[in-house]
Amino acid sequence: MNKNHLWHPFTQMKDYNNSDPLIIERGEGIKLYDVQGRAYYDGFSSVWLNVHGHNVPELNQAITEQLGLVAHSTLLGMANIPAIELAEKLVAITPAGLNKVFYSDSGATGVEIAIKMAFQYWKNKGIAGKTSFITMNQAYHGDTIGAVSVGAIPLYHDVFRPMLFPSHVIPYPYAYRHEGGETKALEATLTALHNLLETRADEIAALIVEPIVQGASGIIVMPPGCLRQMAAMCRKYGVLLIADEVATGFGRTGAMFACDLEQVSPDLMVVGKGLTGGYLPVAATLASDVVYEAFYADYDEQKTFFHGHSYTGNPLGCAVALASLKLFEERNMLEGVRVKAAFVEQKLAALRHRPHVGEIRQKGLMIGIELVRDKVSREPYDWAEQIGVRTSLRARELGMLTRPLGNVIVFIPPLASSEAELEAMINILAESIISVTEGGSV
Ligand code: PLP
Repeated sequence: MNKNHLWHPFTQMKDYNNSDPLIIERGEGIKLYDVQGRAYYDGFSSVWLNVHGHNVPELNQAITEQLGLVAHSTLLGMANIPAIELAEKLVAITPAGLNKVFYSDSGATGVEIAIKMAFQYWKNKGIAGKTSFITMNQAYHGDTIGAVSVGAIPLYHDVFRPMLFPSHVIPYPYAYRHEGGETKALEATLTALHNLLETRADEIAALIVEPIVQGASGIIVMPPGCLRQMAAMCRKYGVLLIADEVATGFGRTGAMFACDLEQVSPDLMVVGKGLTGGYLPVAATLASDVVYEAFYADYDEQKTFFHGHSYTGNPLGCAVALASLKLFEERNMLEGVRVKAAFVEQKLAALRHRPHVGEIRQKGLMIGIELVRDKVSREPYDWAEQIGVRTSLRARELGMLTRPLGNVIVFIPPLASSEAELEAMINILAESIISVTEGGSV
């Protein structure tokens, strides 16, 4: 039935239908169990969003209690209590100046909202012509048309190019693959942004960026100071900054938000994924007062933001998000992530010396391991060798789920993982990488 009727996301279905699919029945802690009862560590947090593990009593209870009140209403001309409380909470924990919350239901729709707000902001201000966007090479912001328009991963995005609005693409500082290393990579990014702003700022509405860690391109960490300097340039040239914290938000990098790592306050910020602990589809776009005020006007429908979704501000989703954020405080999650990240870094150290491990990149509990054919020349494996896929399949045989990004093995465990669980997952990762790339065992 799965093969007959389900069309899976990001999946070549012919390959899938020739494979041995995994069907998950339940989850407990940081493990998922398939229909045969086999257990797997959730080593990629069910696509980078699970925070506290699965089947968490506090989160289940929050949903159940809200279910007894109301499952869904609307924010069209009315409100509900969890949506109000969550907005207040988000404003309190996000960078200074973000005081308004607009809900949606996925990272992509949250990005879509940020793009539309940035576009209309300039129009509402009576400033014509600021209509295009800057994005970064290999950026991923989701799969709706607007989000794809500011996306820059050729494999995913190029097929749709004719139906998209054009964006300016500046280089992302990918130090490992830049001839001049980190310093030159950073310089190239900042120079490109500077040149663009210097010549075309009057055409540009906003820069959108995955702060500190670019995720889907291969967990690539920015050099220190990059985000802060880009933010300062945007401010100087009158271009809005949109921080897409969908992947990096809610403790993933060791700070509540990656922007906090460099004290950056964007004009618009998008959160999703971990917002509900990874339980229900809620996302939010936060806007600064300056942005909001451009839409706030007496009897002027032209300035209204005409955007919304049927499930905007869903009370069940907002209730579980509130419960998740409560656990962050009660369990001192951020400090926990910092301690666990140091533990992971130390445990991964031995892998760095293996002949086909090119680079291990880490920010908090967001880790990418880039495999290479030749460690000295950094020659990558060919796509056809499917090195990442094969390594992930080996990990699955050994009881851990992960999903590769090309030749990069992604390790994004639930933040609640214990040190013993992290160590067990790292052992599986090491065994998988060594057996696939070296044909041996640890
Ligand atoms: N933005 C970033 C940085 C992401 O990593 C993702 C998803 O991986 C998205 C946006 C899209 O989020 P969603 O899959 O919830 O639409």
